[in-house]
Amino acid sequence: MHPDLEKMIALQALDLEAHRLTEQMEELPKHVARLGQDHEAARKNLSTVLENLAREESLRRQQELDIKGHQQKAARLRKQMDVVTTTAQASALEHEIGFAEAEISRLEDSELESMERTEQMEAAKSAAEETVANLARSHAEARARSSETLERDRALLAEVNAKREALRPTIGENALSLYDRVARSRGTALAEGIDHKCSACQMMVRPQRWNDLRDRSNDEIMLTCESCGRLLYWDPARDAPQKKPAQNESIAASIVRAL
Ligand SMILES: [Zn+2]
Repeated sequence: MHPDLEKMIALQALDLEAHRLTEQMEELPKHVARLGQDHEAARKNLSTVLENLAREESLRRQQELDIKGHQQKAARLRKQMDVVTTTAQASALEHEIGFAEAEISRLEDSELESMERTEQMEAAKSAAEETVANLARSHAEARARSSETLERDRALLAEVNAKREALRPTIGENALSLYDRVARSRGTALAEGIDHKCSACQMMVRPQRWNDLRDRSNDEIMLTCESCGRLLYWDPARDAPQKKPAQNESIAASIVRAL
């Protein structure tokens, strides 16, 4: 394998790790902010439920006052019945008593309905309180974890960047500029050849190229994928299943470790 290729495999591993760390550092505050918004929305929902409950209770207090009013009125009318002298007066009173009784029964029905609504609201209140408590906890945890993780990521990124900076000048100028160009346009500059294919774009590698790629005595030329332009490499460890994977340190890892 071309020595630059080995170093670029290591460089690509570092670049991908730097990219992953950078994305994670950008994503974390957004995740915490989303949890904060959810927590705020849950708190608003709970306060709406509490307002509705209070409104329902004051409605019921009013209904009870109204019922009492009608009961007192009906009692007063019944007393007047004792002193009426004409049939017309009696039937007028009876009519009014009937009206008051109908109102009482209507109000009692609607009070029952209100109590059913309150029961449902109490259940909604418990659920809303639980949601608020859960979100408050996960928001606080995420916030605490996020600052720890950000701190760790920052340190890891500095380490990775230092390794990148140490590795880049050891790579040939032409190879490095090819690497940068392909990485800019494709995201990655290198692809492993696996099973006669470019593992990045999945296009077949022609047999002669495949043989050249696997030729371990070849440390002169670098091969590119004819389809995507990435530099191809072949890892002999893949074709050596008799080795235990643990002993089978990748080329990239061994170079990074040596830095
Ligand atoms: Zn390809």
